[in-house]
Amino acid sequence: MASPKVAVVGAGVIGLSTALCITETCPSCSVTVLSDQFSPNTTSDVAAGMLIPHTYPDTPIHRQKQWFKETFTYLFAISNSAEASEAGIHLVSGLKATGTQMYTRKVADLWELHSEYDIVVNCAGIGAHQLVGDKQLFPVRGQVLKVHAPWVKHFIRDGDGLTYIYPGIHRVTLGGTREEGSWSLSPDDGTTRDIFDRCCSLEPSLHGAQDIQVKVGLRPSRQCVRVQREVLSQGGVKLPVVHNYGHGAGGFSVHRGTANEAAHLVEECISALQGSSLRAKL
Ligand code: FAD
Repeated sequence: MASPKVAVVGAGVIGLSTALCITETCPSCSVTVLSDQFSPNTTSDVAAGMLIPHTYPDTPIHRQKQWFKETFTYLFAISNSAEASEAGIHLVSGLKATGTQMYTRKVADLWELHSEYDIVVNCAGIGAHQLVGDKQLFPVRGQVLKVHAPWVKHFIRDGDGLTYIYPGIHRVTLGGTREEGSWSLSPDDGTTRDIFDRCCSLEPSLHGAQDIQVKVGLRPSRQCVRVQREVLSQGGVKLPVVHNYGHGAGGFSVHRGTANEAAHLVEECISALQGSSLRAKL
């Protein structure tokens, strides 16, 4: 198999970083990202993007530590580079430079891709609930405000982490909420006022914040992140799938580590495909 065709479903932080790791780990692959939404319309765009260790109860702790460490090392190197302020843009342009195709497409069923691609990688975030019928995956709704307050230079987080002020490069994120089981993507006005009041009581200068935008995201939550190989099969035809979803409240904090692991699983799928096509020839 000269150039295995890999489809990555999803264009949030997990889909894009996984696509990038696949192009680095398996340079012979042709990688295509398929997604119904791209930035700025994904959950990943709502996040403050802070590196905070988040616990996945059913994922072994040594694996979580490895994911966090790999992500920290990767982002630390970027933060010390000239591209630091445009890191997100560089992720997309890096993918384009490697020849990765990106198409807007809603995938109803992973099997629909079997005639076009050799391997499918599922990075659909909360969309995996419907896409692969994963009932272990549930939303934890988060509402935040993104404001213009360039004088805020330091982050503030209250005791339980529910109220926070995280300055970013362009805007300050004020949070937040954690609403388990809520699928609503509509902003709630009462919650907006409550978040603003809570944050102003921590940092009164925020009363002068401008251009307040309200964002809602659904954290794709699970007892363990699903980074796993699976083979779908229909009528003797097989489709290797690699899952990488269910990062809950910590997708930014572990994205590079899980993307590396998923890319290695893609590598294993390629070896298995090459082995079976060799056996078929003999
Ligand atoms: P998404 O960003 O949702 O991407 C999923 C992609 O799949 C989208 O492009 C979507 O369009 C696509 N898709 C879904 N279904 C289909 C389909 N059927 N066909 C085609 N495409 C499909 N994490 C941190 O580490 N630090 C933080 O500070 C932090 N703060 C957060 C604050 C809030 C308010 C929220 C909501 C989350 C926060 N998180 C944080 C968590 C983090 O945002 C998530 O873990 C992460 O964004 C998940 O990324 P993802 O790529 O899996 O999902």
